[in-house]
Amino acid sequence: MKYSFGLLGYPLAHSLSPRLHSAALKEMHLKGEYHLYAISPDADGRRNMERILAEMRAGNLQGLNVTIPHKQTVMEFLDGLSPTAGAIGAVNTILLDSGRLIGDNTDAPGFSTDLERVFPKCRELTANREGTSPLALVLGAGGAARAVVYALAQAGWRVVIAARRPAQAEQLAAELNPAIGELLAVALEDRALKDYCASARLIVNATSAGMLPDVESCPWPARLPYPPSAFVYDLVYKPAQTTLLRQARANGLESANGLGMLIEQAALALERWTGLPVPRQAMRRAVEGPNASLPAQDIPNPTINT
Ligand code: NAP
Repeated sequence: MKYSFGLLGYPLAHSLSPRLHSAALKEMHLKGEYHLYAISPDADGRRNMERILAEMRAGNLQGLNVTIPHKQTVMEFLDGLSPTAGAIGAVNTILLDSGRLIGDNTDAPGFSTDLERVFPKCRELTANREGTSPLALVLGAGGAARAVVYALAQAGWRVVIAARRPAQAEQLAAELNPAIGELLAVALEDRALKDYCASARLIVNATSAGMLPDVESCPWPARLPYPPSAFVYDLVYKPAQTTLLRQARANGLESANGLGMLIEQAALALERWTGLPVPRQAMRRAVEGPNASLPAQDIPNPTINT
């Protein structure tokens, strides 16, 4: 059998997904291709999205990933959602189940798994459920923040969502509250953030600030001291060392970028599509080793833009 997978998003020129999936398929001795479907967020894009989903329903594609800006809009075209995708309100993986398209979300478990890898102490912090839950600050309230906030709350963190538009943070908290309990929302510039900072054990950047080409940008408010004993996780992985991570290290804080989450969410999607264990190390080598600098079109499997 030759597998056919793909990614719906826009723009997609710099996606690492073809490289990750090609490396895993090769290591698993499976034949397959991973296509990039650049679907614009307009009426033309909508028609293209419906056409590609029809191809999948017909069995010509075995799996799709979904990224910005379609993680929420794709849901109306699907036949069902996994409990995780339903609770988060966003889909990053589509599976075919007896002819039905099911939306799932591997961003949340991908984030949790990588957080435990780079910050093993988080287990210890959340294990003590009898005391006060540890406090995490999540910066941003967009699509990625949904999955991160859900994952943290499920793991037992008290979560403060801080966004530059407080209404966006409040809306996210209100939408997730029925599924996972009490969440707090503040503006990034709100003085209350300073009070939360004192006890924060984790800061997660779920904004796009600092991502190439905007590398000087930093989501952390300029005059706010960093919490003395927090771990800093930046979902951004391009560049590997963001301004936020540089500042965190300069303040003596441990930190990690989001490359591990990217690998883990991709591996979980491939596991769901094939039912087989997926080699994370091969995926990591593909995006960290000498191949990592190759342009997407030079990787072993072809990519197709529609
Ligand atoms: P999104 O839905 O567009 O949300 C972006 C959020 O960042 C919004 O709240 C936005 O606020 C805020 N923001 C942007 N620039 C900011 C700035 N300079 N200061 C403060 N807030 C700012 O995007 P997303 O899907 O959530 O993705 C966010 C980031 O996570 C991206 O860099 C993406 O590549 C990364 N990501 C990584 C992984 C991974 O596996 N590592 C997975 C998913 C996403 P406004 O709405 O006010 O603009």
